[in-house]
Amino acid sequence: MVDGAPLMLFNSLGRSVAEFVPTQPGRVGMYSCGPTVYDYQHIGNMRAYVFADTLKRALIWNGFDVDHIINITDVGHLVADADAGDDKVEIAALRERKTVWELTEYYTEIYLKHIASLNVIMPRRFTKATDFVQQMIAFNEELEASGYTYEIPGLGLYFDTSKMPDYGELSGLDRDGLVEGASVEKVEGRRSATDFCLWRTFSDNVPRLMSWDTKWGTGAPGWHIECSVMSMSMLGDHFDIHTGGVDHRTLHHINEIAQAEALLRSRGDNVRWVPWWLHNEFLIMRDGKMSKSTGSFVTLDDVVAEGIHPIAYRWFLLAAHYRSQIEFSMQKIAESGVALRRIIDRFARAGVVIDDSPISLDAFVAGGPIVAGGRDWAGELVAAAANDLATPELVALTADFSKAVDQVAPDDATRLLSALQWLLGIPFATLTAHDLEMTSAQTVDADALDAMASERDLARSAKDWDRADAIRAQMELAGAEVRDTPTGTVWSPR
Ligand code: AMP
Ligand code: ZN
Repeated sequence: MVDGAPLMLFNSLGRSVAEFVPTQPGRVGMYSCGPTVYDYQHIGNMRAYVFADTLKRALIWNGFDVDHIINITDVGHLVADADAGDDKVEIAALRERKTVWELTEYYTEIYLKHIASLNVIMPRRFTKATDFVQQMIAFNEELEASGYTYEIPGLGLYFDTSKMPDYGELSGLDRDGLVEGASVEKVEGRRSATDFCLWRTFSDNVPRLMSWDTKWGTGAPGWHIECSVMSMSMLGDHFDIHTGGVDHRTLHHINEIAQAEALLRSRGDNVRWVPWWLHNEFLIMRDGKMSKSTGSFVTLDDVVAEGIHPIAYRWFLLAAHYRSQIEFSMQKIAESGVALRRIIDRFARAGVVIDDSPISLDAFVAGGPIVAGGRDWAGELVAAAANDLATPELVALTADFSKAVDQVAPDDATRLLSALQWLLGIPFATLTAHDLEMTSAQTVDADALDAMASERDLARSAKDWDRADAIRAQMELAGAEVRDTPTGTVWSPR
C-alpha cells in the first residue's frame, strides 16, 4: 500500500506550512481575485490563475468538493491603485472609443479564451463587480452604522483602520511598512494613510459612464470592497481559501480582511473571516515586474504568435514552485514546449493509454506502489502532491518516468499518468507531440509596422482619431495585433 498523505499548504496568514483542513468536512469554498478588464491580462496574470487551478486540482485530488469563484473587476480600479482620480476602465473606454460595457466584455472574452487554452477548470461563476453594486452599498451602510467609517465630503466614505487593532496582520509588515504599502497620494481629510476608500464620490461634475446614486453621493465602489462583497455573497460569511498574487498580500487583501471582519464583529461574529490565504509569486521581467500600467507586458497571444503552444507555458510555470519568482524568457517558454513534446512522444511510443477522467488520491493509492528502476513512483507522486503543491517535483517525476515507462505494467503507467494529468492540468490524454511542434511565427514586416505605429502616435497626439483608426486597420491587415499603452502604440505579430 502507498500511504495517502495529508495536504500541506503554506498559509500566508502566519507564514507557515500546515495541514489543510476545511471548516466543513469535505467541502471547500475558494475565492480567487480575478482580472481587471480594461486591458489584456498578461502572462504574469495567467500565473495567478494557473496557480489557483493547480491548488483546486490538489484539493479535488484529496477528495474535497471545491466551490470556486473568480471575480471580474469591471469597475472601481483606479489609476496607480489610488483612492481618487480616474477609473482605469473609463480611461480605456475613451482611449479605445468603446462603451465601458463593450470594452469590459471584449477583454473578459479574451481572458476566458486564454485561461481555457491553459486548461484551467472554470469556476462555478465569474462574478462581475457591476452586478453586485447594490450589495456593496448595503455592506458599506452596515459598516457605517457600526462606526467603522467616516465620510470625507466630496470624496466619499472611508474605512477607519484604527478601529481594527490587528489591521494588516496578513502582510507581516509593521506600521511604517503598512503606510508605505498604502496608496501614495495624499488625501485631504483622510485620518491615516492606511485608511481606504469604500465609496468614491464624484464631485467634479465630469460625466461618468459608470456611476450609482448613494447617500454619500453619486459615485462608484472602492476596489477592495468589491471582492469582500462578491466572495461573501457567493460563498457565505466565512469560506476556506482566498487566493491572489503576492502583491495583494500587502494592500488589497489586508483591506478586504479589515472590512469583512469589521462587519462580522459588528454582528457578534468574532471568528476569523477566511482562515487560509495563498499567494503566488510574480512572473517578472529582467528589469522589474510585468505590469499593465507601464505597458511592458506579454500576453498569451504573443506567446502563441511565436509558434508556442499555450500548454508549453503552463509547463514552464509548473517547473517552478508557485512561491518562487520566475523570470520571463520567451526562449525558456519555447524550450519548455520542446521538453514536453519529447516526454509526450516517449509516452506515445510506449503506447500508454491515459484515462481522461479525474483520479482521486484514494483511488490512486488503492492501486499500490509502482516500483521500477529502484524508485517507488507512486509514493513519490503522493508525497509531492501533498507537499505545498510541489509542481517542480511532479514535472521532474514526469520527465524521469517517461524514460522508465517501459519498465512498469501498462495499468500502472496509465494510473500514474492519469494522476499527473489531473494534478498538473497537462492534458496528456489528448495533447500530441505534433500539437507541440513549433509553428513558425508569422512573418511580418517589422520595420514597416514600427513606422506605422509612430505615425499613428503622431495622429493621436494631434487628436486625429480617424487617421489613427485608419492606421490601426492597416496595421491589423499587415498581420499585427495593435495595442494602446500609456507609452504609445504597441504591436505584436498575430
Ligand atoms: P489584476 O488584473 O492586475 O488585478 O491582476 C489579476 C491577478 O494577477 C491578481 O491575482 C494579481 O495579483 C496577479 N498578478 C499581477 N501581476 C502578476 C505577475 N507579474 N505575476 C504573477 N501574478 C500577477
Ligand atoms: Zn480581489
